[in-house]
Amino acid sequence: MQKKVKPSHAQENDGTDGALELLGPPDVAGYASWVMQHPSALDMFDSITKEAKSKNVVVFLDYDGTLSPIVEDPDKAFMSAEMRMAVREVAKYFPTSIISGRSREKVKEFVQLSNVYYAGSHGLDILAPRAVKSSDKKVNEGAFQPAKLYLPAIQEITVELEDTIREIQGARLEDNKFCISVHYRQVQPKDHEVLKERVKSLVVNRLEFRLTEGKMVLEVRPSIEWNKGDALNFLLDTLGFNNAKDVLPLYIGDDRTDEDAFKVIAARRVGFPIIVSSIPKDTIAWYSLRDPSEVLAFLLRLAKWKKSETSLNREI
Ligand SMILES: [Mg+2]
Repeated sequence: MQKKVKPSHAQENDGTDGALELLGPPDVAGYASWVMQHPSALDMFDSITKEAKSKNVVVFLDYDGTLSPIVEDPDKAFMSAEMRMAVREVAKYFPTSIISGRSREKVKEFVQLSNVYYAGSHGLDILAPRAVKSSDKKVNEGAFQPAKLYLPAIQEITVELEDTIREIQGARLEDNKFCISVHYRQVQPKDHEVLKERVKSLVVNRLEFRLTEGKMVLEVRPSIEWNKGDALNFLLDTLGFNNAKDVLPLYIGDDRTDEDAFKVIAARRVGFPIIVSSIPKDTIAWYSLRDPSEVLAFLLRLAKWKKSETSLNREI
């Protein structure tokens, strides 16, 4: 039986960027035509499992806005006990990784599951599982950190960023180890531009960094070519799946940075990129889910489907 979860107020707001939040309820008419282009993964569930049936499904999940609601205080973006149970169930049946912009330690603290793999800092810090097919365990133990050499520079720019945002009330720095987030959800709208300008002018002079924007957050990252899509490929590889023809990656995320992973799946032509959004949004994802409560419903259904498949196979 599927349990209906009523989205909280925070979840209703989830998926809206900045000014849109002030406009009230989402554009319902716009959403209806958008969802025709990006059908609900719940509605498409049967066709997803039809394709997944003969394949090795590998699950990738973003954290904020996907497994947890977007909240005012980024330190309080907790996931519900129900969601934790759903992710644990899914991970019982499929290799499951969580790829977040947060530091790896922080996202693990939130999720508290030992049967999933964690990639923090948008994939710049991956605790790689031991390779399934590799005999060289030394290579695969410990964290994979392609931007390790940037750490001293990251620490430097963190101090500079702290200095430059100090006078802007509500601005908040989050140290994600290989990526520094400047949150402005609690900054007065009149100060948003000042904050953005200050951060931009600081980063523009440092060629070793680049600036990206998320939901009410600016992110300063090392300017190396490595994103969530590369992390997805790396994890598939380490899990021993990258060359396999029968692998089907499924990625659920709500951020602009998740588009890099969607791109990788779209290029493979096998798998499902699923965006979490309650408003029309530019995306290359094929399917959508409205909010974390729909993600929960989808994950529960996925685990339940595999469980019944497995017991059916046993009977045969
Ligand atoms: Mg997110």
